[in-house]
Amino acid sequence: MSILQIALDVPLPRLFDYLRVGEVAGDPVGRLVEVPFGRGSKIGVVVAEVEQSDQPADKLKEAALIADLPPLPADWLELCGFCARYYHHPLGQVMAFALPPLLRKGKAPRLLKKKAGDAVLPAPTFHPATPDQQVAIDAIVGAEGFQTFLLHGVTGSGKTEVYLRAIDAVLTRGDQALMLVPEIALTPQLEGRVSARFPGAHVVSAHSGVADAARSRAFLAALEGCATIVLGTRLSVFMPMPNLQLIVVDEEHDASFKQQDGLRYSARDIAIFRARQRNIPIVLGSATPSLETFHHATSGRYTLLELPLRAVAVAMPTVATVDTRKQKLQDGLSQEVITAVSERLQRGEQSLLFLNRRGYAPVLACPACGWISACRRCAANLVLHLADRRLRCHHCGLETAIPRHCPDCGNLDLQPFGRGTQRLEAKLTVLFPDARILRIDRDSADSPKKWQALLAAIHAGEADILVGTQMLAKGHDFPLLTLVGVVGADAALFAADFRAPERLFSQLMQVGGRSGRAALPGKVLIQTEYPDHPLYRALVDHDYAAFAAAQLAERDAAGFPPFAFQALLRAEAHEMADALDFLRSAVLAAPTFSEVLLYDPVPMRLSRLKNRERGQLLVESRSRPALQAFLTEWMTQLQALKTPRELRWHLDVDPLEF
Ligand code: ADP
Ligand code: ZN
Ligand code: ZN
Repeated sequence: MSILQIALDVPLPRLFDYLRVGEVAGDPVGRLVEVPFGRGSKIGVVVAEVEQSDQPADKLKEAALIADLPPLPADWLELCGFCARYYHHPLGQVMAFALPPLLRKGKAPRLLKKKAGDAVLPAPTFHPATPDQQVAIDAIVGAEGFQTFLLHGVTGSGKTEVYLRAIDAVLTRGDQALMLVPEIALTPQLEGRVSARFPGAHVVSAHSGVADAARSRAFLAALEGCATIVLGTRLSVFMPMPNLQLIVVDEEHDASFKQQDGLRYSARDIAIFRARQRNIPIVLGSATPSLETFHHATSGRYTLLELPLRAVAVAMPTVATVDTRKQKLQDGLSQEVITAVSERLQRGEQSLLFLNRRGYAPVLACPACGWISACRRCAANLVLHLADRRLRCHHCGLETAIPRHCPDCGNLDLQPFGRGTQRLEAKLTVLFPDARILRIDRDSADSPKKWQALLAAIHAGEADILVGTQMLAKGHDFPLLTLVGVVGADAALFAADFRAPERLFSQLMQVGGRSGRAALPGKVLIQTEYPDHPLYRALVDHDYAAFAAAQLAERDAAGFPPFAFQALLRAEAHEMADALDFLRSAVLAAPTFSEVLLYDPVPMRLSRLKNRERGQLLVESRSRPALQAFLTEWMTQLQALKTPRELRWHLDVDPLEF
């Protein structure tokens, strides 16, 4: 008898046995099937074909192979298998996530007719590589088998050039390359650059902004090997690529490579697994590598490649701190920053003021009775948005009109407290009435189209002052921009999350890197009450290595990653007591592992979200294998625990957010 073991998109950590029927010849493993399930039917993936089933033969139902879709390759199945084991997520759900929407429904996308032979495009012109670039390119192209490279270079040092040349070598051999980037917003620019560079190559993009049919076509083109370059955000790490010979992860430190719901995977880490699985090189690139990656690169596990200089001979921007303890700020702006902005205005150059908080003010309050604009669904405040006159929760999206008077005491004089980008913009309009001011945050750029329009306006020199959040920090050249003012970044210095300084450093380094990229020298002014803080000193000195060394020493002493490995068990319920009770019984159910430490269950920092109370339990070990062995046993125990029906829980391996 032929039994098919099938992974189905259901939240159960097991496979399902069905009988093989139908005409499709050959190995069924990797094929999509349609099977009866419950009262309906489901699409699944055949993981194995076996002789025997644990189920009685008369209980087995029949699986129908879907003939017009090609089988998924063995290494793709194994990639999903690894992901399921490592993140303790049901295999069928991993596969459903990794498949594009149409295939997930068992449908083949309609293939587009190939355009008739385009005119031969002119070959792109190349600059000769700089000596540092050449060293990096030679190392990557010359790698034999699996090797992880960290390409560490400041913005503008020519990392992308190195990726493109390494990809060029892969294409010349007729193979495939995969390039991961953090943001959807970055892909159009990069797509343009890649297509211009490789006019003959079939480049496909994969990110959540690509329409269903196009995504499925890209998937099949990659699977058949005809798409030679796959470019995309984290989900493209699952693209099947039979001739894959190089993986690039640009901005490898970026938190968006980690998915924060459902399958909580790190695309960077999965990419490294994939490179090892296929025995090929992988390049992680960044100006501010994650401390995990940097630690591996300095301890010899990864190969460190450095591009210390900018490719086009412009100096790095000068970075200075502005001590705000000694002066009265004008709506958060220091005299130095105001003066520097006016100088730029006179010279026809652009300034960028960076404030990583959107809205007008983070809270509206009543000075008479102490009322504040709290979200009734979350343990958070409603942010005041004056642009469209709303109070809005940035966590759950709840919106209300701005009250005319205090809901508690009737006081008419409600006050905004603190400062967001809209308030900064308003102040700048008063200070510089003739300047063209552009605000760039998730409110003003809430669609890719608006975002592109804003970028185009900046490039065309249609703005004098930009006010923006970290949206602006990433991957864009603004040739006229010569000043970056950082307004109010201090809070992150003392945040409870041990990764907050790392994030702040990389954000400020990135946003600073926006200035002075063309012919004009750049300047970065950081307003702070802690001008002597080592993090700011390292920024002033452009010394990532010093910052990383200090942080790594602290992490080592505290036993934090990369010196320990972590997992979080999170639970949410109507009542905090239920969430914490579940976590306590999870502690009791835990197998004893001498190398694994369980902390006490605690409420999460955002303890209530959308009316759900949330708790978490941290598990830690100095040994990754020990942690994994523990988690595997523990998950079986957890799945057997009796819980209130409405309680939800999940495991997050290598969590980034606490
Ligand atoms: P990064 O990815 O590190 O930010 P890029 O590869 O985008 O750097 O390079 C920054 C700028 O320098 C780009 O405009 C690029 O065309 C240019 N560039 C890169 N390498 C060279 C080189 N070897 N010679 C001349 N210009 C270069
Ligand atoms: Zn009041
Ligand atoms: Zn809310």
